[in-house]
Amino acid sequence: MRKLLVLGGGTAGTMIANKLHKRLSRDQWTITVVDRDDHHHYQPGYLFVPFGSYTPAEIVRSRHHFLADGVELVLGEIDRVQPDERVVRLEDGRSLAYDYLVIATGVTPRPDQTPGMLGAEWRRSIFDFYTLDGAEALGQALSGFDHGRLVVHIAEMPIKCPVAPLEFTFLVEAWLRERGIRDRVELTYVTPLDGAFTRPVASEHLGGMLTERKVDVVTDFLVESIDPERKVLVSYDEREVPFDLLVTVPLNMGADFVARSRLGDELNCVPVDKHTLLSTAYDNIFAIGDASNIPASKAGSVAHFAVEVFVDNFLEHAAGLPMTGSFDGHANCFVESGDGKALLIDFNYDTEPLPGKYPLPYVGPLTLLGETRANHLGKLAFRHVYWNVLLPGHPVPLPARMSLAGKEVPADAETDKEA
Ligand SMILES: Cc1cc2nc3c(=O)[nH]c(=O)nc-3n(C[C@H](O)[C@H](O)[C@H](O)COP(=O)(O)OP(=O)(O)OC[C@H]3O[C@@H](n4cnc5c(N)ncnc54)[C@H](O)[C@@H]3O)c2cc1C
Repeated sequence: MRKLLVLGGGTAGTMIANKLHKRLSRDQWTITVVDRDDHHHYQPGYLFVPFGSYTPAEIVRSRHHFLADGVELVLGEIDRVQPDERVVRLEDGRSLAYDYLVIATGVTPRPDQTPGMLGAEWRRSIFDFYTLDGAEALGQALSGFDHGRLVVHIAEMPIKCPVAPLEFTFLVEAWLRERGIRDRVELTYVTPLDGAFTRPVASEHLGGMLTERKVDVVTDFLVESIDPERKVLVSYDEREVPFDLLVTVPLNMGADFVARSRLGDELNCVPVDKHTLLSTAYDNIFAIGDASNIPASKAGSVAHFAVEVFVDNFLEHAAGLPMTGSFDGHANCFVESGDGKALLIDFNYDTEPLPGKYPLPYVGPLTLLGETRANHLGKLAFRHVYWNVLLPGHPVPLPARMSLAGKEVPADAETDKEA
């Protein structure tokens, strides 16, 4: 029997196991998934928890429930990979041999990496919403907040779902307005980028939306530390941003076992070929989803499109054939903008988000880079698609490669000519 071992039973790992279970011969292959616990979190739902729109019960389910019968789930903390021996060691002493390994252990927020963040003010005036307990604690803090300086902050890029802090800002601004206290709150968005987003057209659009909502934007802010006593963010170039309530996105890093296994870069992400997702160091190791170092957004949608390409490639690779699929970095993300509306952005390695319609060119019903009610309903519906279609590995009628059809392409836009 040949052994496929998938590290991480989150978005990417679950889809991979379920899709390959349908395609690999059960007489010749075993598929094992390893995760530290049996709680699968729908992470996009964290955004809504501070506002009481989703409860934890709506966004957490058992991993067992989503893995096909015949896929083994091993629960345990991964300690290290020993690639030369083709073995993964767990912290409790168990070891798992493999022929092929997929690393899909994602990234997590690391407040310990910014001096002062985890000090006395953590979960008192400093919060995150990139964890479920963080999002719940933030909800408590917001309910008692009625005036002062509310700062939304990104420590460093890349972070998963790079639009989530913008979405939080739009939602909290609308929420303050609804409560009639918007004029008592100074709202500031602090980013290490030179604008609201990573790509020019979307950055200008989203930056304009922050200005319209009277949100101060502080750019190029590389945080050096937080002074919890004075409640200020301090940057390397000695600027300071004071806060009464700080909503931060801490540095996002891959799992520590990746570093211990000498498989990662400085953020513990695994270097891979950006088109095949095969490790640059080992011919039998892939990394998919947030855990890899590909220059695409770290997002569930990217994981999904990448898995579509990976599955056929894996079958070719395991059969000793060249891999013919090429992942183009395709991402699409809803961006909640408050007041029951959202935008949608669709882009890849080479083409930035552009206005237009999606998924049907010229028809939609979703609007790219425009705020609509249909987009917001699409975002809410996505939770059901995630649980019932994506995770079980059912086909989704969306092409993995990004298309330019229906998009308004400016003459000077950066685009992938093949797209
Ligand atoms: C607030 C927020 C909003 C988001 N919104 C969106 C959105 O609107 N659209 C979108 O596309 N994406 C969104 N995302 C991003 C999306 O959730 C992730 O990109 C996606 O889950 C990545 O999938 P993954 O499989 O790579 O990692 P994950 O789903 O994070 O899975 C990694 C798994 O590895 C396990 N693991 C890690 N280390 C170990 C270890 N040492 N031992 C054992 N197990 C381990 C973890 O327990 C976890 O189950 C959002 C994320 C956040 C935080």
